[in-house]
Amino acid sequence: MRGKKRDLLSSPEDLAAWWQEALSLSTEQNAVEGAANAASWTNELLEAIKTLRTALRNVVISLIEQCPINPGDLAELNRLLHMGYQSLEMTPEGELEPRYHAFDREKQATLLSIALSALRLLAQGERTRLRKCKNERCIGVFYDTTRSVTRHWCTLECMNRARSVQHYRQAKREQMYVRAGCAAAGGTARSHIHRRAAAGGEES
Ligand SMILES: [Zn+2]
Repeated sequence: MRGKKRDLLSSPEDLAAWWQEALSLSTEQNAVEGAANAASWTNELLEAIKTLRTALRNVVISLIEQCPINPGDLAELNRLLHMGYQSLEMTPEGELEPRYHAFDREKQATLLSIALSALRLLAQGERTRLRKCKNERCIGVFYDTTRSVTRHWCTLECMNRARSVQHYRQAKREQMYVRAGCAAAGGTARSHIHRRAAAGGEES
């Protein structure tokens, strides 16, 4: 719907689709065991993830704006980090690897994965790369991984939307400029005629 904000996580189905996309983009080595396919996408999980999203967004905004972080938001993140444990395991090639496990795989593996990603980002990421989306209709925040640190939008959709709004405004400005130009020209022509009439001494 034009001009209306829509939450990308409106239903458990949205959540499942978002999670598959997130997994496909993820390069993380230390994922939580079973997080890729163990979840049952319930409304309860949807609400829990939205609560986490709000807390993380608040923390990130505080960091961007250099304001004190709300301890409640940090507590929410830590509560989820307590949902699992780490272990050291051997791969078939005989390498040692850290693994993460959720106590309740079905209900917690997704939440724990997101919380761990956030922990790594907030603890090891560069604060200057945390950004708010420049699309004024979007509340998204993101981590700018471009070399030049010049990314402005959270997604391509936001970039395209922002650019089409910009084009619309530009076109409108040009249109107004043309109209204003005509009015000014008309005004000048009229006053010129008035001056000529006055100069003609018709009132003498
Ligand atoms: Zn955005």
